[in-house]
Amino acid sequence: SDGWLYCGLDFGTSSARLALVDDRGALVGVRTRAYDDANASVARAWERALFELLEDAMDAEERERCQGVAVDGTSGTVVIVDARDGRALREPYMYNETFPDEVERVRALRNGPGKDSTESASSAACKLSRWFRVDAEGDREHAALLHHADWLAYLLHKKMGMSDFNNALKLGFDPAPGVEAFPGWLRDAPFGYMLPTDVRAPGTSFGVMDADVAKRLGFPSTCEVIAGTTDSVAAFVASKAAESGECATSLGSTLALKLISDTRVDDLSSGVYSHRLNGRWLVGGASNLGGWILRRFFSNDALESLSEKIANEGYVATEDYFDGVMLGFGLSVDEASAIVEKSRPADDAQFVVNILSSIANVEARCYERMRTLGASHGARKVYTAGGGAKNGVWSGMRSKAMGDIPVERSACDEAAYGAALLARQGRKRLSGYI
Ligand code: ADP
Repeated sequence: SDGWLYCGLDFGTSSARLALVDDRGALVGVRTRAYDDANASVARAWERALFELLEDAMDAEERERCQGVAVDGTSGTVVIVDARDGRALREPYMYNETFPDEVERVRALRNGPGKDSTESASSAACKLSRWFRVDAEGDREHAALLHHADWLAYLLHKKMGMSDFNNALKLGFDPAPGVEAFPGWLRDAPFGYMLPTDVRAPGTSFGVMDADVAKRLGFPSTCEVIAGTTDSVAAFVASKAAESGECATSLGSTLALKLISDTRVDDLSSGVYSHRLNGRWLVGGASNLGGWILRRFFSNDALESLSEKIANEGYVATEDYFDGVMLGFGLSVDEASAIVEKSRPADDAQFVVNILSSIANVEARCYERMRTLGASHGARKVYTAGGGAKNGVWSGMRSKAMGDIPVERSACDEAAYGAALLARQGRKRLSGYI
């Protein structure tokens, strides 16, 4: 298997990306295809990008060596298909489309205590309910729901109904060991027959690529399609965090945090939920306090030179702007901006250090909160991707805020790389992606 390659595909909002890794998991290359704007159909544009990446963006020799393919996508984006041939019955429902009218209907079907991930207006469950109730035309009998990544993987393996634990989570799937099923209330719903029927662990095989597809693409008949994941979990995998207590923080416009835990933590009132990955739990949360606050006042160049000044002249923070702010989206853009502007020091370097330190404190509190909510470990090591990851001064402050743990840049910022690592894991029958 020395010359084998594995391929990961990430379907983002404006383009699709392919990452190739070798047998040891090292990155061989990344290729990109923008979606074809001229094409009116979103589903067609994705399909075209998929095959362009596999056929044109890989050379013949790479294709011959490719033994595994995995796809990641946005779990909130769903495609309603004809189960007999996989044809999209309408344009996909996009991740940011909301159907508030369905929330109450889905809640009534569940008829249980607490809050559930299905009860968000953008959830796949609400989209399914909406399709069945309003958007379905004619014959509903053969319809099925696939997530974004499921549908693209389907185009390669051609077996209907396959999904993975991570994409299916917000559709209501319970990935707990011994359960691994949709709840009864969802299966018994009028649209229950449309749920994916074979939901597998990310990084395990869906089986070989369809023979005709493999032949047409010039892939070996032994190439397998491996269960993928969501875009954010794929980005986590790309960080190569793998041990309990290891974390990945995406520090872009906003903060997204993920911590590996031996125990599951779900507390939707604090915006915390867990994905299952390699037999453990990926406890995730987010905060809207992130790099956008910096961007509001400073260009990236200004940030770099001010950060240098902070390091050279030994500035320390004089304010904690977001004291007490936790996970979730507690402060609006206007509220957060007003808070920092009210106590803005005259010296820009001092202002930047105050903001950096305040966001570092939010991150530290968020990981602490996951621990108090039941995670088996607190943050022991944090990998970071996104625009804020390249700021070493900030990393130092973050490390200190979290109790002097290591804060490192992620090995790779590409979700497609994470998908490729899952493809390799699945094809090689490994228990982990490293
Ligand atoms: P997005 O979430 O929009 O994809 P990116 O991951 O590209 O964002 O990150 C952009 C953010 O990174 C911006 O909000 C910007 O202020 C911040 N940023 C860029 N350069 C630096 C830097 N040197 N130090 C701190 N923050 C930075």
